[in-house]
Amino acid sequence: MPSPITIDAFSSRLSVDLDAIRANYRTIAGRIAPARCGAVVKANAYGLGVAMVGPALYREGCRTFFVAQLCEAGPLAQVLGSDAEIIILNGIDPGSEALCAEPGFVPVLNSATQVERWRTLARAKGRPLPAALQVDSGMSRLGLPPVEAIDLASHPAFAREVDLRLVMSHLACADEPARAANAEQLARFRAVHAHFPGVPASIANSGGAFLGGEFHGDLARPGVALFGVDPGPLAEGLRPVVRLDARILQIRTIEAGTGVGYGFEHIAAARQRLATIAIGYADGWPRCLGGVGAAWHGGMRLPIVGRVSMDSTTVDISALPEEALHEGDFVELIGPSQSLDQVARDAGTIAYEILTQLGARHARIYLESGAARVRAPGDHR
Ligand SMILES: *Cc1c(COP(=O)(O)O)cnc(C)c1O
Repeated sequence: MPSPITIDAFSSRLSVDLDAIRANYRTIAGRIAPARCGAVVKANAYGLGVAMVGPALYREGCRTFFVAQLCEAGPLAQVLGSDAEIIILNGIDPGSEALCAEPGFVPVLNSATQVERWRTLARAKGRPLPAALQVDSGMSRLGLPPVEAIDLASHPAFAREVDLRLVMSHLACADEPARAANAEQLARFRAVHAHFPGVPASIANSGGAFLGGEFHGDLARPGVALFGVDPGPLAEGLRPVVRLDARILQIRTIEAGTGVGYGFEHIAAARQRLATIAIGYADGWPRCLGGVGAAWHGGMRLPIVGRVSMDSTTVDISALPEEALHEGDFVELIGPSQSLDQVARDAGTIAYEILTQLGARHARIYLESGAARVRAPGDHR
């Protein structure tokens, strides 16, 4: 038996505020009511740990969960009540049909071949099988062209073989409310949905939930907003969820002319105090933050100097008094001083990517109702 995990085994700490996730769920659910609110927890709940995030949302009343791949559905089902529905957005890979027919799983049918394979299995089983149907309303990513979807609606055999739980589509520009594409996609989607009376409609992701009420449909599918990321200019009332801190491994003072890190990308122009901290690109701390990003401590920005290494990053702490930081202390990377969005901007990417890359070596600390539970990454207790 491995010894039980203790937090001291980890050099970096990722705090996930489950109360904030639950509050964000309530905020979105309140905004879209009477439409129902689902939750997108693909990619391990955007990197935050689906084994903890899934049950927290379930406790908040969520009963419809979305994952991208079938391999994500099983682990999620294990931590939810049996009344939860798990919708598999990417649909059915060849050979996975029987696995997608597990009770509680609802694959999305995205193409004519996915529809055909699902109907074949339904005929073999002699009963209708649950599914969602995705329509491509303009994004050109996943989903049937509108004419093909409408054609299905006119086939009585389709209704006998497929227990249609949802007709859905996805918006390409939901984070940009002014884009005409939003209304155009909605109109195309509605024209298809009209052929499936009585089947719930879903088009809104996080951004869509903050567009007008006509985008709410019967069920919304927010992901990133649950995790505290602003999904567009109309969003309001969302709480930050994530905090990331890493330990200082070593502190040193260097003289003018001294090089720092791989390639000596940084050469000190004057005497400098540096701290080497325990986070690198292997932890999802982007390498492109070298010379651009920062850590924070005591309200002070600590610029990253030189290149980010695999396991460490060096920051300039000259602005702090000597006694402010010691080896083993933690500095903030994401939190009240530096938002996830700021880190994403510095790295030239979006918060989604920073979140989903958050590494396998951070201790996960889950905060809920005044309690803190520590989990090792990949720990599915
Ligand atoms: C990822 C995804 C969502 C959630 O998107 P957010 O922008 O994170 O809210 C919703 N629907 C589909 C089809 C998705 O792929």
